[in-house]
Amino acid sequence: DELSYSDQPLFDEMETAAEADSLPAAPALPADITPRQLLKQIFGYDEFRPLQDRIIESALARRDTLTIMPTGSGKSLCFQLPALLWPGLTVVVSPLISLMQDQVAQLRQLGIPAATLNSSLPFPAYTQTVSDIRAGRVKLLYLAPETLLRPETLLLLEQVQVNCLTIDEAHCISEWGHDFRPEYRQLIQARQRMPQAVCMAVTATATERVREDIKNALNIPDAGTFIASFDRDNLHLAVEPKLDGLNQASRFLDAHRGEAGIIYCSTRRQVDGLTEQLTSQGWPVLPYHAGLNDAARAQNQRRFIYEEGLVMVATIAFGMGINKSNVRFILHFDLPKNLEGYYQQIGRAGRDGLPADCLLLFSYKDVQTVNYFIQQEEQSQQAGSRQRLEAMVGFVETAVCRRRPLLAYFGEEYTAASCDLCDNCLAEEEELSDLTIPAQKFLSCVKRTGELFGMSHIIDVLRGSRSQKVLQKGHDRLSTYGIGLEFSKNGWQHLARQFLQQGLMAQDSYGGLKLTSTAYAVFKGEKVEGILPEQETAVTGYAARPKHDAALFETLRAKRATLAKAADVPPYVIFSDRSLVDMATYFPQSAASFANMYGVGQAKLEKYADEFLPIIQDYCAERDIAESQPAAATVSPARRIAAASGKGRMEDVVATFNAGQSVAELMAAYNVKQSTIVSHLYNGRKAGLPLRASDELLELVVCSPDLRQRALDAFAELGPDFLRPIFDALEERVSFEDLHLLRLYAATNQS
Ligand code: ADP
Ligand code: ZN
Repeated sequence: DELSYSDQPLFDEMETAAEADSLPAAPALPADITPRQLLKQIFGYDEFRPLQDRIIESALARRDTLTIMPTGSGKSLCFQLPALLWPGLTVVVSPLISLMQDQVAQLRQLGIPAATLNSSLPFPAYTQTVSDIRAGRVKLLYLAPETLLRPETLLLLEQVQVNCLTIDEAHCISEWGHDFRPEYRQLIQARQRMPQAVCMAVTATATERVREDIKNALNIPDAGTFIASFDRDNLHLAVEPKLDGLNQASRFLDAHRGEAGIIYCSTRRQVDGLTEQLTSQGWPVLPYHAGLNDAARAQNQRRFIYEEGLVMVATIAFGMGINKSNVRFILHFDLPKNLEGYYQQIGRAGRDGLPADCLLLFSYKDVQTVNYFIQQEEQSQQAGSRQRLEAMVGFVETAVCRRRPLLAYFGEEYTAASCDLCDNCLAEEEELSDLTIPAQKFLSCVKRTGELFGMSHIIDVLRGSRSQKVLQKGHDRLSTYGIGLEFSKNGWQHLARQFLQQGLMAQDSYGGLKLTSTAYAVFKGEKVEGILPEQETAVTGYAARPKHDAALFETLRAKRATLAKAADVPPYVIFSDRSLVDMATYFPQSAASFANMYGVGQAKLEKYADEFLPIIQDYCAERDIAESQPAAATVSPARRIAAASGKGRMEDVVATFNAGQSVAELMAAYNVKQSTIVSHLYNGRKAGLPLRASDELLELVVCSPDLRQRALDAFAELGPDFLRPIFDALEERVSFEDLHLLRLYAATNQS
């Protein structure tokens, strides 16, 4: 395992950078301002994300809280917002200087007086910050646990009013957490020194064991615990067999030109090799692994964060403390050891909520490699590691929605009929063609070459290649030589993957293909169905991209880069990609409309409206474009896009339902299960479509009227976002099928 704390790069360089952005005065707020108003005014967001409002409410009621939410879901806001409503200081314990500085820079851009104290601050800056804290000019103070526990820091904090002690990345406390830090264990001392402060522990680590450990270590046994869904619903998940890794990687990069992303490899050697190969093809890649010296790593990391469109080729040593919100893709070049690692790594993409693309290249050879690593582990750990690897392979091989095994691993049941955002779900939507002839050609070529060769070689033979290997083996003399010119190499790969998935052949651990008994049925004429290559929506990208004006987006992005450079902050700290996408979608013409854009609060309006508005106005004047209004829908953009590309099925179902058809009739018309219809209707409703109220929904519910009422009450109390808590609250006595119906019923009967 390459991740250890001595591996963490030094951030001396960034130190002064973030501090260059000076401490703003606390915003003047009306005494009766609500959290919701604050969200809009300061952060520029219209709605709370699931659980945020409840967590904030709980903290404001001075209840200790434990928050477990996935990366990118908006955990930080849960303590940043209350910090503005409290009279005194909120202390935030954070494990890495890079994380602290990123948050401080972002908060200052929002006009919030945040600061960090750490040992590497130059002395004058340190004393300035201390006097700012004493004078009550700081609302949020970020510290590493080591700094907090120093006697002079504790003394300083005793002299001011600390309202809240937040432990960010709280899994660091737990010896079961993936990055345990012994210093965290001593935080209880700090907590005892400020008993009046509310304690908020925040993490993205989901396991029960870690959760309990955090509560014990901080002595907050009664903390309100909030666990969000771990579904990152803007991440597109896909797995492809690894055939010619390098070409697959460059095809993937081609689909993501100009975007920032990470390619994960399992070894340093792989990182170096791939970096070299991709560089020679002209891709803007940087290497990162624990074998590079501190300076090189720090520089590559800084460039990745501060510049646009760079691709990091890295081992798992890279990623901790990367807050960059516009990482657009993750490519796993090798198989991760387990789903924890995979989930953590893909979690670094799409923090801004815009679509991001995660592709894993899989070969059975990699399973052997991981197994080899496992054999090097201590005897006592091997069984557990092997089990985790099995779950990883299970995820890779699944034919159902990938979110199901992934979330199940973290103890969550994914109940939607389709996620519309993984390769398996999207493949279902495509029309099936007759692939019997290509299957017969391919399978017979496998047979005639002796069931010894991998996919590439079979394709070479089919396509009549004169490669040395083909000639040497005499495969140019086979009857299947050159009979497959109707498809390109990529086309055949696409087909062969389906033959593998359908079990017509199997791959041994070296990639060699063997026929199964099903293959012989195909020789006898059994039909094979699947997707023809021409229909293939590029495996490496979304079927549809957001409908924003790309040219304007680029112009705004260039402006952002200039401003970021001048302020010496990462570009996404000025505006997230999502804010720019909003501007390039709605073309705001006035300060008032500009304030409606995603992420535009008071401070950013004042600071940046004059910078960005003229660009948009000029652009629109030249092209006769009028401003349009953002839709009130609270659906994430990724979903909106996915829904739009889903051939309007959801809209169709909603329209037919509204025209008076019953659920049963819709099931028959679309030939789908009840849960599919119900989920289309509910998604339509969530996307803002009107839906007629219908008592038929209640008639379909099978549980007792008493339980039915309790479930409806639970929805009213706990909100409609997650079914699991409601399922639990009702002691598992109401089925998910019923809960789906009742949730829909509740939604349609709401005005
Ligand atoms: P986490 O700490 O959970 O990884 P962050 O707190 O960094 O996630 O939030 C991810 C992104 O989502 C940030 O850009 C943040 O400003 C944004 N965000 C947080 N809350 C909301 C909200 N209610 N509406 C829109 N965006 C939000
Ligand atoms: Zn899916």
